[in-house]
Amino acid sequence: MRDAAPTTIFLKDYTPFGYLLDSVHLTFDLSAHATRVTSRIAFRPNPDATDRTFFLHGEDLNLIRASINGTEVSPDVTGKGLTADVPDAPFLWEAQVEIDPGNNTALEGLYMSNGMYCTQCEAEGFRKITYYPDRPDVMSTFTVRINGDLPVLLSNGNPSGKGEGWAEWTDPWPKPAYLFALVAGDLVAHPDRFTTRSGRDVALNLWVRPGDEGKCAFGMEALKKSMKWDEDVYGREYDLDVFNIVAVDDFNMGAMENKGLNIFNSSAVLASPETSTDANFERIEAIIAHEYFHNWTGNRITCRDWFQLCLKEGLTVFRDAQFTSDMRSAPVKRIHDAIDLRARQFPEDNGPLSHPVRPESFQEINNFYTATVYEKGAEVIGMLKRLVGDEAYAKALDLYFDRHDGQACTIEDWLKVFEDTTGRDLTQFKRWYSQSGTPRLTVSEDWADGTFTLTLKQRTDPTPGQAEKLPQVIPVAVGLLGPNGDEVRATEVLELTEAEQSFQFTALATRPTASILREFSAPVILEHDHSSAERAFLLAHDTDPFNRWQAGRSLAQDTLLRMILDEATPDADYLNGLQAVLRDDTLDPAYRALMLGLPTQSELAAALHERGHTPDPMAIWSAVETLRQATAQHVQDLLPRLHSEALVDGPYSPDAQQSGKRALGSAALALTSRLDGGAMAATVYANADNMTLQLTALSYLLRARKGEVQLAAFYDQWQHDRLVMDKWFGLQVTMAAPEATPETAKALTGHPDFNWKNPNRFRAVMGALAMNHAGFHQPDGAGYSLLAGWLIRLDPVNPQTTARMCSAFQTWKRYDTGRQDQMRTQLSRIAETPNLSRDTTEMVSRILGA
Ligand SMILES: [Zn+2]
Repeated sequence: MRDAAPTTIFLKDYTPFGYLLDSVHLTFDLSAHATRVTSRIAFRPNPDATDRTFFLHGEDLNLIRASINGTEVSPDVTGKGLTADVPDAPFLWEAQVEIDPGNNTALEGLYMSNGMYCTQCEAEGFRKITYYPDRPDVMSTFTVRINGDLPVLLSNGNPSGKGEGWAEWTDPWPKPAYLFALVAGDLVAHPDRFTTRSGRDVALNLWVRPGDEGKCAFGMEALKKSMKWDEDVYGREYDLDVFNIVAVDDFNMGAMENKGLNIFNSSAVLASPETSTDANFERIEAIIAHEYFHNWTGNRITCRDWFQLCLKEGLTVFRDAQFTSDMRSAPVKRIHDAIDLRARQFPEDNGPLSHPVRPESFQEINNFYTATVYEKGAEVIGMLKRLVGDEAYAKALDLYFDRHDGQACTIEDWLKVFEDTTGRDLTQFKRWYSQSGTPRLTVSEDWADGTFTLTLKQRTDPTPGQAEKLPQVIPVAVGLLGPNGDEVRATEVLELTEAEQSFQFTALATRPTASILREFSAPVILEHDHSSAERAFLLAHDTDPFNRWQAGRSLAQDTLLRMILDEATPDADYLNGLQAVLRDDTLDPAYRALMLGLPTQSELAAALHERGHTPDPMAIWSAVETLRQATAQHVQDLLPRLHSEALVDGPYSPDAQQSGKRALGSAALALTSRLDGGAMAATVYANADNMTLQLTALSYLLRARKGEVQLAAFYDQWQHDRLVMDKWFGLQVTMAAPEATPETAKALTGHPDFNWKNPNRFRAVMGALAMNHAGFHQPDGAGYSLLAGWLIRLDPVNPQTTARMCSAFQTWKRYDTGRQDQMRTQLSRIAETPNLSRDTTEMVSRILGA
């Protein structure tokens, strides 16, 4: 059942639930198409609530019976839940429902994946399991009995009973329903143990399908490192006797932090050198850490309502970034984060889907699991830490855990611990949570009598629902370099709080060169009119690794924009600067590999649009190709040396050092392939003993329009490994020539292994199509109509994945009227589809600006 008109929910309307829950007991009688769920819940009136309406959420449930204190009742049931008359005193609610996990393709609630039962309840999936107050501020302890004839039966908490065909689990920690989880299947464990610093012995298990046992070791090591790190850095210890992770093939997201029973998309946990790339390993380490860290930031302290999602996600992304920086290279991690933020969050923040880190309204909360809530939410915490300092940050976090353990909290609670720790007024800082849009920071310089003056200005363009913007608190980390490259002023943080402010540096012997927004100290767009020569100077000398990389990136962007607009030739400052960096073997190979990166074509389109031009995707593509070719020729002599530096001794390891060498080797191979037509890539492919080398070699062969033989061989070798086959599908679309991209994607959707109901496989093809900028934006609109057609097909099966992928169209207003018309037509086609889901309806109408 669906509503005719979607309802909008507002932050300002929050009221507490009328009842408290003392305990929840659930019994599951598992059956593929007729699972019975029996609930026994002890309610009592909530003294802090004024509204005593007894409403329990429930969707797609078949109510068998319900009783209060043992007396059968007949509640009013709608498609959204039930209402009943209840006593004004503590009472016991019992209900039995029947559900159909076998036909649950939306992958929300209890569903099946390859014969295994599993759940996904965040945000509002528990209401598809039983009638319940499905909101994060309602917390209770759970006991769960599972009856089923599968060998492994898991739920949250500690095991409390077991027999032939049943198992019982008890979770002593009160939790909201979105953290509920159940798994039942024919699974095998990769076991291990961890002793916490207070001596608690914890049994760890990574549960996988038989055959995947060889892909567990890395994930398990990452889990143990995460547990140790959270003790060492945040003083947070694990609090149950067991910690289970389960790998599931059909999963909408990356992973889910259910208490004591994390459920992972198999792509986010299974890894082996033969089947996974270095990037896969790094991502897996980060996601395992992220979900584990949620045990404190999310589970022990949860969100009062879904508007506060950034409370747990922003903080936990920030924590996992700190973890990755500690495990690997901090500058490399920071650069990766900036690249990712600009690629995913900036377009969102500056387009029709723009929303504050804490949104004020939504129709479907699933649509707000966004880069803004997660990644910008993490940046906001990074700024807060920078402003108060490391010591005050640590104190504030201790206070947060002390004061709010066991509670469902708000951003106000979070900021209050910082105010109480530091005495600082964070009223203006809080605008980072309420104002949407990316602030633009403009810098101008003045030099007179030994005094260097920086004038910083900020402005944020209007975003949907927010025409007027107020100045935000922006920490701007600045250092000054002298003419010989020495640092004449070490990094200091300027606090920009006004629309315009000047900062003076006195007693300088000569005019310095300013290095601004070091370490990417705020998630803003920096507009600094440096000359090409100044950028080249910073690329050669900046002592801040982030800004040194940024100088190269800015030079690359400047030359690309001139090539696109003025048919200029590649800039010598860029090519020479890059050459000098590549030659400097004191620099970390991973860092040099990043130096060889270019802004994405979508970023270049945004930069052109911001400067008042209409981006032409084919012109952008061809400028990038030209610059790559010129780079290859310019650094040709260095390539053999880079190849040899990238050689790795000993057995494969996905650690930072080896993967950095492979990243540099791969970047060098990409350039070499432009000169030798793929000859060396073919050799690398033939000799590759790990997926990183195999896949990069294959990709450069495909870009050289060679590699058909290898592509077929790759298929033969890996057709039984679903995660590797996702790569095989995606790579062909990513590496296709622009004109051939829609046709390539279309042909792959006809492949017998294109299981479009599996989110990973669907995204492998359709996500790659949307990311291939010039291919997706082919002038005939073939890319648009192919994607729209598949989204229409997927929507009734999996609304959540469909809605998210609609964001491929979010930048439609950047382009020429021909492309705009084509995209509007496809968006309208989606919008007019009968019975379109609430998720997709909301996304499309926001993108269209309706
Ligand atoms: Zn999370």
